[in-house]
Amino acid sequence: MANFNYGPMLEKMKEVFATGRTRDKSWREGQLRAIVKFLTEQKDALCTALYEDLRKDEFDSMVAEIGFCISEAEWFIRNLSELMKDKRKSLDMVNYLGGKAYIHYEPLGVILDIGAWNYPVQIIISSMISIIAAGNCVVLKPSEISSHTSKVLAELLPKYMDNECVKVVEGAVAETTALLKERWDHIVYTGSGMVGRIVYEAAAKHLTPVTLELGGKCPSYVASDCDMEAVCNRICWTKYMNAGQTCISVDYVLVDESVEETFIDQMIATVNEQFSLNPALSDSYGRIVSERQFDRLIGLMEASPNRQVRLGGESDKGSKFIAPTILTGITPNDRLMQEEIFGPILPVLRVKNHTEAIEFINKRDKPLHLNVFTKKQRIIDEFVQRTSSGGLSANDAMIFRVERGLPFGGVGPSGTGCYGGVEGFANFSHKKSVLQKSQGWEFLFKSMRYAPHTPDKIRKMKLTQDLPKILTKTCKWLAFLIPTFVLIGIAVYFGLTKGLFLKMSNSE
Ligand code: NAD
Repeated sequence: MANFNYGPMLEKMKEVFATGRTRDKSWREGQLRAIVKFLTEQKDALCTALYEDLRKDEFDSMVAEIGFCISEAEWFIRNLSELMKDKRKSLDMVNYLGGKAYIHYEPLGVILDIGAWNYPVQIIISSMISIIAAGNCVVLKPSEISSHTSKVLAELLPKYMDNECVKVVEGAVAETTALLKERWDHIVYTGSGMVGRIVYEAAAKHLTPVTLELGGKCPSYVASDCDMEAVCNRICWTKYMNAGQTCISVDYVLVDESVEETFIDQMIATVNEQFSLNPALSDSYGRIVSERQFDRLIGLMEASPNRQVRLGGESDKGSKFIAPTILTGITPNDRLMQEEIFGPILPVLRVKNHTEAIEFINKRDKPLHLNVFTKKQRIIDEFVQRTSSGGLSANDAMIFRVERGLPFGGVGPSGTGCYGGVEGFANFSHKKSVLQKSQGWEFLFKSMRYAPHTPDKIRKMKLTQDLPKILTKTCKWLAFLIPTFVLIGIAVYFGLTKGLFLKMSNSE
């Protein structure tokens, strides 16, 4: 195995970071504009690479990869000043006099960003956008599996970026292993939980914090009260985009038993409408990324001997095509229900009701995303409160990714940390607590804080500790007494004026 040494590259980047160059708003904004320029000017090269890697059509490449990242970068450019501002915090009583407190968002340093192959532009570029907006240097390691996109990124991105602060390293396991040996200020990894563990271990050696964007099985629940056409359109779009190779795809559906057949019939009609009766000829339908992934998916299906193929099932290894497939007759013990599918195979399992669906989900690993389809607010609330997942969508699925106010990340086995929008900025910043005091009021502090601990100071210390309770009690009483006195006052005032008025009218 070749010996890679990224130490000197990292040291040089740390030196540049230490100059403070990346902290400036102008640097951050300039780099974000450079990303927009790269994505806009190199759109064709990127689209071609995405087609060669995953047979993505222009629509999906623009919506879910290039256009997505352009919007993300533009959002950060618009909001950079606000994001970078120190956030004032209220003060405790002991610091109130002559003090101010705030959070300062400090860049972390040089960050390693290891990307996955399924959205080879979106994943690595949108995480880089959050990283750069937060004022960090970054080394990108695109996935070698999506080799065409990796090559375009390595060749063309450096033409736009500040090359002392942003680098692209191509490579596979050997290169990533060598990168992971170094002491980074933060590591972002997107991919499987298995490699996630390797990354976490490597980071632990240096106590380096990590953001792990992992996968797992994302369930969807479909209740009996749904408008099936709308629900199936949304599930079909989410499940079969990129031939199901999406981390927040619908992995399986739990459907109320009373509408199981209605749901399946509508799903079949929807797939036929979106990808035609022969999806192999549809320009809108992608391909499996590699023969290895193709074999894995076929193996998963074949490991369920009692499966009933309700739609699809056809495949062609030569073109890495697997048709949009719907299966029933799958049991929770089948491999299809034990492993993340990450392909265009949709098991549909029936449940009695939403309570059974919640129990089913809660017996398994916490998903990256969970979708609930129902018109009943009560059921949506129950899912929100009784299940745990990175995110939850009600009556839609992965479209939540465009919301910059909603962080993107998992929980437990589906990941840790996040990127995108406001929270992404915070994720790649150190939230430094700053308390600033004046040098005044020393007579007061001297009489209370420092040794010797005289009885008078102990009395004051106790009083200070009790003061919040006393103030709360006083406030409660005041909250009761003030309106009471006001009401009495109003009553007395009207009583008197009315009495006076009656007196006057009587005397007339
Ligand atoms: P992958 O094979 O492309 O691996 C991801 C990265 O890890 C690559 O850059 C690769 O070079 C590196 N890598 C692979 N093996 C390694 C090793 N032994 N040591 C060090 N580095 C190694 O991607 P994958 O793992 O097949 O990705 C699919 C998984 O990613 C799915 O589980 C999916 O759900 C998940 N995913 C998650 C997100 C998210 O945002 N949460 C997004 C996309 C994909």
